[in-house]
Amino acid sequence: MNILIMGVAGAGKGTMAERIKEHYNIPHISSGEMFREAIRQETPLGKLAKQYIDHGLLVPDDVTITMVKERLAKPDCTNGYLLDGFPRTMIQTGAFEKAMDDLDKKLDIVINLNVDFEVLEERITGRRLCKDCGAIYNIHNHKPKIEGVCDICGGELYQRSDDTTNQLRIRLTEYEHLTKPVIDFYIGKGDVIQIDASQPVEDVWNDLKKALEALNG
Ligand SMILES: [Zn+2]
Repeated sequence: MNILIMGVAGAGKGTMAERIKEHYNIPHISSGEMFREAIRQETPLGKLAKQYIDHGLLVPDDVTITMVKERLAKPDCTNGYLLDGFPRTMIQTGAFEKAMDDLDKKLDIVINLNVDFEVLEERITGRRLCKDCGAIYNIHNHKPKIEGVCDICGGELYQRSDDTTNQLRIRLTEYEHLTKPVIDFYIGKGDVIQIDASQPVEDVWNDLKKALEALNG
């Protein structure tokens, strides 16, 4: 099954992607991870992407689409793939659709994780990270035993400077502007599963699994 998963940061994409990957035994291909891997391996495209990133610039769409195409042509994608983080604009979507046509790997389904603003705000502004081991806590629903101290390593917990309501609003406006049209495009094709991701993780997963199984059945 060829799947694209969409949702704003904080919607729980990473967690659901892990579950889907294991359940369906397909590779989880996140655009961010794909870049880091290409840069680490110093592939020609990785080197090119690094030049842009090092200058604080966005990697151009044609570089990204070539990278995605190369990645999805690898043998581990024979039984399907789970794409995450790309395409996120309409321009990218046009190029992506054409590339998948060429590869004969068109999307079967798009999963859209919807979250209420209040839930998103709580998840994001409540997030605390350990300076030493990177463990993630939340002061609302996943508190450390001692306030400000990591349960695992005793390290100091901190809040990321962009984990604020204000930054969240900015990110949501950008998402609405750039990415919502992509979702609307796939809705128009009848390819979207809408999931209520404001629920607890297990409930989100149950809804998602049922929806995917209904497709296969
Ligand atoms: Zn720690």
